[in-house]
Amino acid sequence: MQRLDPWKPRLARWSDLLLGTDRHMRIRISQAALASVVMLACVATMYGIAWYGMSNLLHVEIWSAFCVLGLGLVYGLIRSGISLRWADPSLTLAQMLYALTCNAVAFVLAEHGRGITLSLLAVVLMFGMFGMSMRQVLVVALYAMVVFGTAMLVAHKQNLTDEPTVLYVAYFVMVVIVLSCTTILARRLGTMRAYMRNQKTQLAQELEKIQRIATRDELTGTANRRFMMERMREEFQRVDRSGATLMVAILDIDYFKRVNDTYGHQAGDRCLQEFARVVQASIRATDRLARWGGEEFLVLLSDTDFALALACLERVRTQVEQAVVALGAIEIRVTVSIGVTQYQTGDSIEQTIDRADLALYAAKAQGRNQVVSC
Ligand code: GH3
Ligand code: MG
Ligand code: MG
Repeated sequence: MQRLDPWKPRLARWSDLLLGTDRHMRIRISQAALASVVMLACVATMYGIAWYGMSNLLHVEIWSAFCVLGLGLVYGLIRSGISLRWADPSLTLAQMLYALTCNAVAFVLAEHGRGITLSLLAVVLMFGMFGMSMRQVLVVALYAMVVFGTAMLVAHKQNLTDEPTVLYVAYFVMVVIVLSCTTILARRLGTMRAYMRNQKTQLAQELEKIQRIATRDELTGTANRRFMMERMREEFQRVDRSGATLMVAILDIDYFKRVNDTYGHQAGDRCLQEFARVVQASIRATDRLARWGGEEFLVLLSDTDFALALACLERVRTQVEQAVVALGAIEIRVTVSIGVTQYQTGDSIEQTIDRADLALYAAKAQGRNQVVSC
């Protein structure tokens, strides 16, 4: 017997409580959690710097509280579902701007250790920028330049570390370089993403087209022979299991060659389209129609008895007889001969079709425009 791990359900309960049960929310919170881990690692590093007397501990403590508060706020907004009201429920842009602000403040507070805060800038940018639109990327880049520029001015004015002005200029140049590179990379990635999205849409469209070609008859829009063969195989199996009744009917337009010979092939095509439309409208939604080849069609009538099937096919015959295909001044009328048979358990598709064909030949032989069963 398999031993159940008692921790598993507890962990699942906690995970549901913290991350929620909605898949998208869990992804959003996981992403925010990852950013939080980075932020907390930075908080720890800042404490380390303060511990060794390179920056003011009280300032670092206030800064840390500010960072943790922001992380808590982001989590609360996402977990409560409030962020769903906004265009970006992941709050990526807001999180980035907040992280950049904390990062710039850390630059001022880190004093002697401020070099490390610039590498953090690259991390923050990498986290969010590649998933953003170009407009958002530019907003972030501009914002980063403004806050870091301000931070550098403030740090330079305080002059706690006695660093020369040229070092601050170098810091700022580094910030501009990092921002420019990230912007260029984000743009490249955006182009690639758009290209891939486009490819995906095109592929989906092509696949749909291939599926349509593989299953539909191009001229009449009905199912084609291959598709109907598959459906018949499935239906036969279903009937074998359930014992339900299934009728197979073959419909052949009478003297169709004459239509082509008299009015031309195009008129014949229009007739075939109209014929398919009339038959489709005369059968039940659960019955299936397919073009079997040329001017021959097949109808699969499921869950019906012989009498009902005959009545349905008689309706089809009458509707076809009454239909008129108007082509300018020409009016074309056709009739149809129908052979129908009941599927017998264990019969193959070929045997069933052969029987329906026999009935069809009989209908033709007896003068056409009639339904004959076998
Ligand atoms: P019957 O009453 O014995 O069925 O006579 P029929 O003229 O309908 O039979 P036959 O098999 O001699 O002729 C079928 C005609 O159907 C011949 C062929 O040109 C035409 N046909 C088959 N497929 C198409 C098609 O896609 N478009 C058009 N316009 N005609 C087609
Ligand atoms: Mg024929
Ligand atoms: Mg025919």
